[in-house]
Amino acid sequence: MAKVLHEPPAMSLSLWFRAPRYLMTLFLAIMLVLAASLSWLGWRLVKQDRALESQRIQERLDNSADLIAASLQRKLSESKNQLNSFLSLPEADLAARASEIVGQSAGTALIVVFRPQVVDAYPGTALLYYPFQPAARDAPASTFETGEVAEFQQRDFAKAIAIFRELSQSKDPMIRAGALLRLARNLRKAQQFRAALDIYDELDQMVATPIGGLPADLLARYARCTLLNELKRTTEVKRDAGLLYADLRNGRWKLNRSAFRFYTQETSRWFTPDPALQAHEREAVPTATAVELLWEAWQRIRRGEDNASGQRSVWILGRPVLLVWQASSDRLVALVAGQRYLEQQWLSSLRPLVDRQSVRLALTDAEGHPVLAPFSGSTVQQATRSSAETQLPWTLRVVSQDPLAELAQERNRRSLLLLAFMLLFTFVLVGSYFIARAVTRELEVARLQSDFVAAVSHEFRTPLASLCQLSEMLSDGRVPSESRRQEYYEGLRHASERLHRLVESLLDFGRMQAGAQQYRFELLETGSFFRGVAEEFAQEIRERGYQVEITQQPHLPSVRADREALARALWNLLDNAVKYSPQNKTVWAKATCENGRVAISVRDRGLGIGPHERKKIFKKFVRAASAEVAGAKGTGLGLTMVEHIVAAHSGQMRVESEPGVGSTFTILLPSAKE
Ligand code: ADP
Repeated sequence: MAKVLHEPPAMSLSLWFRAPRYLMTLFLAIMLVLAASLSWLGWRLVKQDRALESQRIQERLDNSADLIAASLQRKLSESKNQLNSFLSLPEADLAARASEIVGQSAGTALIVVFRPQVVDAYPGTALLYYPFQPAARDAPASTFETGEVAEFQQRDFAKAIAIFRELSQSKDPMIRAGALLRLARNLRKAQQFRAALDIYDELDQMVATPIGGLPADLLARYARCTLLNELKRTTEVKRDAGLLYADLRNGRWKLNRSAFRFYTQETSRWFTPDPALQAHEREAVPTATAVELLWEAWQRIRRGEDNASGQRSVWILGRPVLLVWQASSDRLVALVAGQRYLEQQWLSSLRPLVDRQSVRLALTDAEGHPVLAPFSGSTVQQATRSSAETQLPWTLRVVSQDPLAELAQERNRRSLLLLAFMLLFTFVLVGSYFIARAVTRELEVARLQSDFVAAVSHEFRTPLASLCQLSEMLSDGRVPSESRRQEYYEGLRHASERLHRLVESLLDFGRMQAGAQQYRFELLETGSFFRGVAEEFAQEIRERGYQVEITQQPHLPSVRADREALARALWNLLDNAVKYSPQNKTVWAKATCENGRVAISVRDRGLGIGPHERKKIFKKFVRAASAEVAGAKGTGLGLTMVEHIVAAHSGQMRVESEPGVGSTFTILLPSAKE
């Protein structure tokens, strides 16, 4: 009985393949996770970098804000100390001390001292009007009664003039001033204008005397202007009104707001005020108004409703005014400063600090008015210190001097970081691609080798099976006739020759791969060599029902070749032609001369090979798909060896093939020069 060699279990092989594929997927998954983690990490890093940068900027701004606040606090407490020393100063020294403090900034700041019913300002010229008008001190009304009866009831101006002229000789300056004013009025009514003007001149000399709470000289000068106006003496009116206006603005008299407004408006009817004076008023009005507020505050302090010491920034007519005050039981001393004083005295010393820190500073008062350099763009980073935190009269805000440059710098650094990550990412991707490619190739080689092992086993199995079967029958004496025995011996020879060829070809392949194959070149008569090999092959396959049609051109040139190797190459081609031509039992072998070269071709009408596989089949272990489909066994080494042998003979291989039609393999060899 014939022994059947067992096929290796198909299952184990497929398992063997699946493992590396699984590994491949795993590798790709790991790479994907790696790339994803890298992207995530990059994104996190950029985010963190942005947060860190903004934190760094914030810290710098906070630090600057604290330094600036400390410097302003120092200034404030210095001012308060100075004011404190005022509280106990004798009245006579106040003016001198005040000018020391206000110094060069006179005009933009002043010191006010409040006492019950007294308001003093230093320098006096800086305050346009006062919070209150001193109580009207005047000569008793009865003094002028008879004169006024004559003037208003009897309309006897001459009599009134006589009465008032007499009263004007009085020793009491108040009676004299009141009488002079009334005298001038009656003179005007009596059409004695020149005399009236003289009286006004006289009254003008009584500088400090009040009439009805108002200074006599102010009243005299104003009345004189009205008279000149009535007399149409325009040049003089213009001149006198101008002088009066200038004196009003220079704080010559302590007037309250309504008196001040009345006289300035009246006088400015007669002439166009100088722009410089108007500018001065624009600056001085807020200060005077602030002093009014301070006066109210003092009333509250005296009632115990407010702190004795304080500071405030008030916003009056579009201008900021700083108030710093210190009060005792009977006195309040305050610094009243406009924006210019603030900038010159307080902020100029901050300039180096602000520049060093590369920041910009803005101050806003309690109502949010911009006291100093407002900046737009609430989105930019800033450090804020409220007045509650700093005890300063302002809210302090600090921003970067050049936030755009800072942003650009930050963006540059971030782009660099992103670039580095992109590079890393690309590196990982490219690396993965190459590793994946290498792994795929290795897998392919592994698959090919596995195919090879399966194929070689199969190749061995057929002759081995014949050997076993035939030798068993012979040794068992189960072959009855001699001719039959002879046939079996022949079969044994064929099987062992086939095994021998197989082993030889494997060994040759091994030698070729190692580069150790030795060729023994000799001059070969092409025709007889070709016919010899082809006929021997034809002989061998005849019993399998195949035939070889041999054609040969006469007088073929000889070639220099290794007989054995070339024979093996031709045999291989013939063997393939038969193997891959299962339907058509004829193959054609032809030897011709082509352009001075010898062409040995083998043609079949078999499976054929697809165009994309024609080159690949010469690589080791590679087999065409058609061969696998048809179930033809093979090792994928034959053509590799053929090509190697032909190349060693300085020849070329040519393949013409069409799937389903057939193939022609041609060995082209240079003819030998004898
Ligand atoms: P094998 O041992 O598989 O025959 P070869 O190297 O000789 O190895 O051939 C490689 C592959 O080339 C074969 O598996 C087959 O697919 C294809 N091939 C070779 N010769 C022919 C032919 N004459 N007709 C069709 N296919 C062929």
